[in-house]
Amino acid sequence: MRDKGLNKNRKFNIRFIPLCVIYAAACVFFFIKLINIQITGADRYVKTMSLSHEREVVVQSLRGEIYDRNGVPLVTNEYTENLQLDYASLPKGLKERNETLSQIINVLKENGREVITVMPVTGTYPHIKYDEEALKSQTAQNRMYRFLLYHNIRTGVNCLDFYEELLNDFGLVDSEGEHIYDSETEDKIVRLRYSLDATNFAADNPYVIAENIDLPLTTAVLESGCKGVSVKKEYKRKYNVPGVGSNIIGRIGKIPEEKMEEYLAKGYSYDGVTGLSGAEAAFEEILRGENGITVYVEDDYGNILESYVKKEPVPGKNVYLTIDINLQAQAEKLLEEQIKIIKADGIASGQQNRGEKADSGALTVTSVNTGQVLALASYPTYDLSTFSEDYETIVQNPAKPLFDRSISGTYQPGSTFKLATTIAALMSNTITPNTTINDTGHYTFYPDYQPWCWKRDGHGPVDLIDAIGVSCNYYFYETGRRTGIETLNKYCKQLGLGEYTGIELPEKKGILAGPEYKETMGKRWYSGDTLAAAIGQSDNSFTPLQLSSYIATAVNGGTRYKSTVLLKTCNYSGSDEEVNAPQILGTVDMDETCVDCVKRGMRRSKELTTTTKNYKFPIGSKTGTAQTSQTNNNAVFVAFAPYDAPEISISCVIENGSTGTLAAAPVLKTISFYYGLDNNGNPLKS
Ligand SMILES: [Zn+2]
Repeated sequence: MRDKGLNKNRKFNIRFIPLCVIYAAACVFFFIKLINIQITGADRYVKTMSLSHEREVVVQSLRGEIYDRNGVPLVTNEYTENLQLDYASLPKGLKERNETLSQIINVLKENGREVITVMPVTGTYPHIKYDEEALKSQTAQNRMYRFLLYHNIRTGVNCLDFYEELLNDFGLVDSEGEHIYDSETEDKIVRLRYSLDATNFAADNPYVIAENIDLPLTTAVLESGCKGVSVKKEYKRKYNVPGVGSNIIGRIGKIPEEKMEEYLAKGYSYDGVTGLSGAEAAFEEILRGENGITVYVEDDYGNILESYVKKEPVPGKNVYLTIDINLQAQAEKLLEEQIKIIKADGIASGQQNRGEKADSGALTVTSVNTGQVLALASYPTYDLSTFSEDYETIVQNPAKPLFDRSISGTYQPGSTFKLATTIAALMSNTITPNTTINDTGHYTFYPDYQPWCWKRDGHGPVDLIDAIGVSCNYYFYETGRRTGIETLNKYCKQLGLGEYTGIELPEKKGILAGPEYKETMGKRWYSGDTLAAAIGQSDNSFTPLQLSSYIATAVNGGTRYKSTVLLKTCNYSGSDEEVNAPQILGTVDMDETCVDCVKRGMRRSKELTTTTKNYKFPIGSKTGTAQTSQTNNNAVFVAFAPYDAPEISISCVIENGSTGTLAAAPVLKTISFYYGLDNNGNPLKS
C-alpha cells in the first residue's frame, strides 16, 4: 500500500513540474504586484493623511441675564450637563452603530432614564400609528419630510409599512427577517435612529439624548466605554421670580427650523438657542453675545489630531428692565383677584352682563415723565419655570395665557377717550373751559343719527369739568361735532392713540376711528360717526399700554415718551453700562390750561365715582364702559398719581367686566402699593 502510494506521489511530482513553474511565475508576478500595491498604496495613504481637514465647532456664548429696575435677578443661568451623540465618533456601519446605540440605551435604562426621541409614532410594533397630535407641529412635519426624502420613502406611506421599512433600512432584521434585538431595544433604536436622521445629525450638530444628567449617569456612561457619546455642559435659564412677568420676560428655545438658515448666517449653531418671546426675543442681540469657534483638525476617520481656539466666545450683556418686579407681582395678583370677584358676583346675580363672563384682562403702569413701563400685567398668564410641563394646559386654555393683553389686546376705550376730545376741542378753540352745554338726554342735531346720553333724562346744563366728571355723552357729542373729526384725529395721533407706543415687545397698533381708517376698510365716514368717535366708540380700539401712555402724555403737559421696558444694559462685571435714555416720540400741541382741565376733569370724575370717591390719596381717574356685544361690556379704567405732580399713569381693562367702575379697585390698590398706602389711600401706620 505504502509503495503504491509513493509511486503515485512521484508520478504526481513529475506531472506537476510544469504547474510549479507556472506557480512560481505567478508568485513572482503577484510579489511584484504586491510591492507595487504597497508602494503606491503607501503613497496614497500619505496623501490622505496630508488631506486631514479642519472642522469648526461653534462655542456657545454665555447668555446675558435679566434683572428688574432695582437689580432683582429675574432670569439667571443655571448649568446642566447633557448627554449627546457625536457624529464623528459614533460608528458608521449599520450593525456597529445599532450595537453602540443599544449599549447607550441600556446604560440609560439602568439609570432610570430614557433616550430623547422625536419619532411621531405611538404604540408598540406592530400595533402602531402616527402621532397626529405631534404631527400638527411644523417642526415635526419638516423632520418627517426630511427623513422620508433622505430614506427615499414615498410620502403618505402607512405607519406599519413605514416602520418596517425602517427596520430594514437600519439593519434591525437579518436576511431571514429575524429580529436582532428584543422588541423594546429595537423600538428605541428605531426611534433614536429616526431622530438622528430627522434632525440633521452631523459633525456640527450633535444629538442630545438625555438632558440634565446627574453624576451617577455621567460616570456610568463614561465607564461603559460606549463610543460616540459625550457629556456636554450647557446652561439653562433659571426663573428667580417664577410665574411673575412671564409675558414680559419671555422664553428661549431652539432655533425654529424654518428660520435656521437665517440664524446660521448670523453665527448661531444648529443646536443654538434664541429668544422666542418677550424681552428674551426683543433683546436677543444684547443678550446673546458672540459665539466662539474652536477648530478641530481631524483625519478621514474622524480622529481628532489637534484643536485650537479660533475665536473666543464673548458673553452677552445683562439687561435691566424698567419693570419693578414687586409692583408687577402685585399688579398681576390684584388683576386676577378682581377678575375672579367680578365673575363670582356676576354669576351670583343671575343676570346677564354683570361680569359673569369675566375671564381676562390687563393692567399697565407707566412712568409719566420717562415712558418707562413699570408693570404690564396680563391675565391669565403662565409660569415660565414650568412652561414645558404646563404647555398643553396653556395652549388649550380658551382665554389664551400666551396672549399679552397689555400690549397686544386692543379694546374700545369707552369714556376714557373723552379726555382726548377735551384736548382737541380746547386747543382748537372750539370750546373754552367754561363752555356750558345743556344736555337734554337725546342728541338730535343730525336727522339720521340721534344718540342718547347714558343718562336718558339728561344732565341739564354742564360745563367741561362736570361733563368729564359725570361722563356726559351729550356734552361730547356736541363738542366732538363742533371740533370735527379731522381736528379730533390730529390731537389723538399726537396723544399716541392708534399709534405704536414704541415698546420693544410685539405690540398692536390699535385703531383710531376716523375717515382714514374707514377708507382702508373701503367705507365712508358719516357725520354721525364723529359723535360716536368723540365718546370713544366707533372703530376706536387701543391697547391698555396705549391708554396709560395717552394719560401720561396728557397729564405731563403733552410730551409723548416712547414706551420702553429697557432700563440699561451692562456686561457681566457690571461695567460698560449703557443707559436707555428716555426718548420723545412727539409733543401734543397743548397749553397749561388744557392740561389743567384734563386733570381737574379726572379729579372730578374720581370724586363722583362710587368706587373712587373715598380714596384719600390725591389722584385723577376716569372710567370707561365699552359695549362689545349686545350682552357684554368691557370695564376700562385709567388713573394718574399723585395729582399735583403726576409720576405714574395706570390703565386697567377687564374683558366682559360689565362696567368701568369695576376696573377701579385693582388700580387703586396698585397705587396704594406703589406709594405704601393702605387700601383707602391713607399712609400705612408704622
Ligand atoms: Zn349727559
